[in-house]
Amino acid sequence: MKNKRKEFETDAIRTQIDRSQFLEHSSPVYLTSSFVFEDAEDMRASFAEEKDRNIYSRYANPNSTEFIEKVCRMEGAEAGCAFASGMAAVFSTFAALLDSGDHVLSARNIFGSTHTLFTQFFPRWQITHTYFKIDELDEVESLITSKTRILYAESPTNPGVDLVDLERLGKIAKKHGLIFVVDNCFASPYLQQPISLGADLVIHSGTKLMDGQGRVLAGITVGRADLVDRIYRFSRVTGPALSPFNAWILSKSLETLALRVERHCSNALAVAHFLEGHKKVNWVKYPFLASHPQFDLAKKQMKAGGCVVAFEVKGGLDAGRSFFDGIKMLSLSANLGDSRSIVTHPASTTHSKLTEEERQESGISPGMVRISVGLEHVDDIIADIAQSLDRITT
Ligand SMILES: *Cc1c(COP(=O)(O)O)cnc(C)c1O
Repeated sequence: MKNKRKEFETDAIRTQIDRSQFLEHSSPVYLTSSFVFEDAEDMRASFAEEKDRNIYSRYANPNSTEFIEKVCRMEGAEAGCAFASGMAAVFSTFAALLDSGDHVLSARNIFGSTHTLFTQFFPRWQITHTYFKIDELDEVESLITSKTRILYAESPTNPGVDLVDLERLGKIAKKHGLIFVVDNCFASPYLQQPISLGADLVIHSGTKLMDGQGRVLAGITVGRADLVDRIYRFSRVTGPALSPFNAWILSKSLETLALRVERHCSNALAVAHFLEGHKKVNWVKYPFLASHPQFDLAKKQMKAGGCVVAFEVKGGLDAGRSFFDGIKMLSLSANLGDSRSIVTHPASTTHSKLTEEERQESGISPGMVRISVGLEHVDDIIADIAQSLDRITT
């Protein structure tokens, strides 16, 4: 796997671990917890890390190695570490790099479980955080303290599909010697490569667009080799390792990432155009709609708009719930980036525990709906949305 980086689609398909003696065409699954040694000297040298080889699947496994190598090529990263879920990647990254007393400066709009980590668990280890507003990046520098170690952001955000100017944050991080970490799960490496914009580390939930078919949980952190090494040393003893089977699924899925994401994006843009101007809809937000307040940034930072469209039905919470109940084909589910289109109503579900004020700060209104546009025929996706909008009576 040592050859030079090629084009995205080629690397996604041609990055493979060495063939076994059977000369299989497609990489097999290495469902084995451990690996054997030739003799005492081989075992000693392997444990002393004088040899680059597999010892035990909590440390490394050929399938996770192939998955990591692919994502590194896609993101332009030096090294990576794979995990059993996206949250295992998020937690292990912070836990490996932070000491008691350290401070994290993070965008306000982040994934719910990451927010819970910052607010309910990190305080136990005296790790503090401050949130900045993504539309007030002028203020970010004034929030940095002598204890700040990590600058953290996601773009586009969930569920509001707002954008964060990653290049600008990258410059701030560099100037102040902070580690800039980006959760790139919403965009996927096909649409956006944060390392080229100044990120030191990039995190993915492989569960979303990378798997793309709603089958497995996975996570990965890629980026600067010195930082990844610290994360790897932490995780090989704490044990959030990715299963070889899930790594195999993901590596196969990545072969079609470019094709799938292209179609997700063209379907999502068509859905956004349909919703724009619909008489029962107040507003629609999608990064590649010219009406998106950050359309110029979207075009600069992303190759296309992604799979998520947010909109607000007229009539508030009742209308939002009514739209949700009227859906016939699309799935009412909590995932995203699946081949099946998924609808969520954040105010009554994923974000129902937030106060009204917190919801407003996260850009969630009572009538807001989020659709993860899938790969069904776009006419059928739009037809289902249309019939449900037509049924709303409020
Ligand atoms: C889903 C998600 C995660 C967490 O990933 P899991 O695989 O569910 O643990 C983290 N960040 C973002 C932006 C996500 O959408």
